[in-house]
Amino acid sequence: MKKPNIIWINVLIFSITGLVALVGVPWYGVVHGYDGYHLLATVLCIGYCGMSITAGYHRLWSHHAYEANIVIRVLYAIGGAFALQNSALHWSSDHRIHHRYVDNNEKDPYSAKKGFWYSHIGWMLREYQRERYDDYSNVADLKRDPVVIWQHKYYLLLAALTNFGIPLAIGFWHGDVWGMLLTVGVLRLVISHHVTFFINSLAHLWGRQPYSDKNTAKDNALIAYFTFGEGYHNYHHSFQFDYRNGIRWWQFDPTKWLIWSLNKVGLAQNLRTCGNDRIEKAKAHMLLQKANERLSALPNADEISAILHAEYEHLVEHINQAYEAKKAWLELQKNHLIEACDKSEAMKQYKELKSNLQEQRERWNSLVTQYA
Ligand SMILES: [Zn+2]
Ligand SMILES: [Zn+2]
Repeated sequence: MKKPNIIWINVLIFSITGLVALVGVPWYGVVHGYDGYHLLATVLCIGYCGMSITAGYHRLWSHHAYEANIVIRVLYAIGGAFALQNSALHWSSDHRIHHRYVDNNEKDPYSAKKGFWYSHIGWMLREYQRERYDDYSNVADLKRDPVVIWQHKYYLLLAALTNFGIPLAIGFWHGDVWGMLLTVGVLRLVISHHVTFFINSLAHLWGRQPYSDKNTAKDNALIAYFTFGEGYHNYHHSFQFDYRNGIRWWQFDPTKWLIWSLNKVGLAQNLRTCGNDRIEKAKAHMLLQKANERLSALPNADEISAILHAEYEHLVEHINQAYEAKKAWLELQKNHLIEACDKSEAMKQYKELKSNLQEQRERWNSLVTQYA
């Protein structure tokens, strides 16, 4: 079968900027030198581009994980054009198809099943899904956001203005135009490109699967460090509407911290999270599966498997009961009966079920960790 046509503009952008970053940037450094301002401006601009993609294109527009004030949306739109990753409308359309048909080599635009190179950058070098390029039917909701429409309409102009304008402006201010064009212009673009591309490639190839093995998405703390928190990709593919990717407070997810902070100062609302009961059940189910696979080699596999299943069923039952009770208790609280509800039946029941759940959790953990 004939290979799809090469998209020369992408090939040229990626290869020229890559080459300049690898050769031109160090060469200029040796001949002219850089100072702390070059480093600071580059790091800040990488952060701006990266967060515009992760907090804006990804968690806000592709997944509606929260709502953001128009000023923030305009900043994301400008930062997304600066990151040179197509318009938010196009990006979100691709990304929703990625989630819907993940790992399907025909339909997933950056299917990791086609290997590292394809999912990282190869998918953008040829017209693989040409027929789909102008079909924005899966992002009809985004067409109601005037910021998305404005950015889509003026994307090329915005991309040119930011990619040349920002480095030039900083260069004139600092007094080293060429140095800033190389660092803030090219180096920043190349790093920000590949860091985002890692989410499609590495985060589907390397890491753990604590929540689901129905697709290739992986959780990887190291990748999270380079991708503004998007390395917890197994969680994300399991609970895509959650504004967090790293759900524990200590997991490195600056995108989550940014959204949380914007909410605290009134610039973001309706942050969506997945209930802890669903997360705990997904994790327990994966452990059960892993334990079953491992213990199949043991002589008394059937016996242990039956015990594990029974304990798992108990755990799920306890989780359901405890969280139902918690919901009832919180409902009371919502009705401004805080004092009364602390002495209420619902509260007593929840406390009791919570300690039952904790006991069952310990039984389950001590059992399953022997095998999983
Ligand atoms: Zn993915
Ligand atoms: Zn996503």
